[in-house]
Amino acid sequence: MRYLVTGGCGFIGSHLCTRLLDAGHEVVVIDDLSTGRFENIEAIHQHAGFRLIVGSVLEHDLMDGLVRDCEAVFHLASAVGVKLIMEQPVQTISTIFQGTDVVLKLAARYRKRVLLTSTSEVYGKSENVPFHEDGDRLEGPTSKHRWAYACAKALDEFLALAHWKQSRLPVIVVRLFNTVGPRQSAQYGMVIPNFVRRALANEPISVYGDGQQSRCFCHVADVVEALVALIECPAAHGKVVNVGSTEEITIRGLAERIRTLTKSESEIRTVPYASVFGEGFEDMQRRIPSLDRIGELIGWKPRKSLDDILADCIADVRASAT
Ligand code: UDP
Repeated sequence: MRYLVTGGCGFIGSHLCTRLLDAGHEVVVIDDLSTGRFENIEAIHQHAGFRLIVGSVLEHDLMDGLVRDCEAVFHLASAVGVKLIMEQPVQTISTIFQGTDVVLKLAARYRKRVLLTSTSEVYGKSENVPFHEDGDRLEGPTSKHRWAYACAKALDEFLALAHWKQSRLPVIVVRLFNTVGPRQSAQYGMVIPNFVRRALANEPISVYGDGQQSRCFCHVADVVEALVALIECPAAHGKVVNVGSTEEITIRGLAERIRTLTKSESEIRTVPYASVFGEGFEDMQRRIPSLDRIGELIGWKPRKSLDDILADCIADVRASAT
């Protein structure tokens, strides 16, 4: 198969590309290297089955040929991370929606399968955990910019499902929960690479808010297995599917565990959200996926535990520091 992977130089995209090449597929990546990095695909860019096109999914004519010449599309290209969304709200909203619009229109023109990665952010601050794909979403007001990301991604989902409804375009929407693993940059605020980097440097670890908010972290290798299986699963067409772990930990608990595992002397500091993101920031307290649907579709559940994940991330940060 020849797959087009938009955003293939990103953290998840690059792991996906390696997995697809290992399975003998051809991979064409389009990435504008805005948040993606060439280093992420350095190990595979000479592979005979791999091609990188540096460009944007917003370039319609370029995308036309790429979608036409592939068999299926993984659409991962997107603004990423709460920090970026807070800092660049205009680009975030327009590129998320316009990029997906281009991909879906061309996929509809050439009748190509599309797997679109969405986010657990779309559940908003709903407290109805575990989150079921068809459950209600609860977003904050438009004056609080964090919710722009959830809203833009939800609109992408609506558009994808509309293509399925209107013309039976085979689309699969994946809601990714917190995903971590080697090569994840600390630059966009993600908590585990940040905490690990600070712990290894014996610098203070900043826990935002009271640290009682919790998350479930899934290893990128498990996430990629799910993506590859879902794009091959006809029963997933026209569906939204959660992908993530159900092993929950508070952010303060996470800081303590990382400090212990790294034998660090870092102080754990509590930092108000407002001093990081500005006034009026809202966080979600808990975020746990229901894995019922993905279990029924492809029998998937994560294999790696949080301790496996942390061991991998610590080794990765140590290796990149040498
Ligand atoms: N967080 C933190 N310190 C950091 C980075 C993040 O306390 O240096 C918190 C953040 O406020 C959130 C959780 O860790 O409650 C997960 O943050 P991340 O940005 O990794 O993902 P999110 O779940 O917010 O998408």
